[in-house]
Amino acid sequence: MSADLAAAGAHLAALGLSPGSSGNLSVRDGDRLLITPTGADLASLDPERLSVLDECGRHVAGPAPSKEFPLHLAFYRRDPATKAVVHLHSRHAAATACLPPWSRRSAIPPLTPYFLMRVGQTPLIEYAAPGDGAQAAALERLGFPFRAALLQNHGPIVAGPSIRAAVDAAVEVEEVCALLLLLGDREPRLLTAAEISDLTGRYGMPWDL
Ligand code: ZN
Repeated sequence: MSADLAAAGAHLAALGLSPGSSGNLSVRDGDRLLITPTGADLASLDPERLSVLDECGRHVAGPAPSKEFPLHLAFYRRDPATKAVVHLHSRHAAATACLPPWSRRSAIPPLTPYFLMRVGQTPLIEYAAPGDGAQAAALERLGFPFRAALLQNHGPIVAGPSIRAAVDAAVEVEEVCALLLLLGDREPRLLTAAEISDLTGRYGMPWDL
């Protein structure tokens, strides 16, 4: 489990999605949480030196956790099926987090099928300083389903049923945000309600029309 987390960090760093040693990853391990330590570089994580938290977020072993751990905890509390969380400052998703959201339930419009199949609706969470517990509380309270969010003026955070799924979804968020910015102020065709229902029905990802 810790080796998978370290490999996921190296993969994301190799893709250039962890600028300036930013980003943090976690996995659920029974009733504990393994999370990257504060200041850790995703490119060179040591599986033997991960921070261990209990389910209440208390630090129980290893080095001090990333200060953004409350956001991870919020996702695990929202959904028992969440087994991994990936938070990045990847460039295009962070840029999109500085723009007005497309809708109340998704900062990103339904541009591509893979965004619907791997991510689903991605709400914008109002700005707070990194590590501010109020932002995690806001994320935990949101009354509709989602597996990914954009932290306003900050970056994406993505949950999944496995570290592999969370990494793939984080990459997909970055790609769809790159497309969104590439399209600029033109008016792209969006997937229709029928096309969205077909995909979310088959892939089980959240999107409220
Ligand atoms: Zn961050």
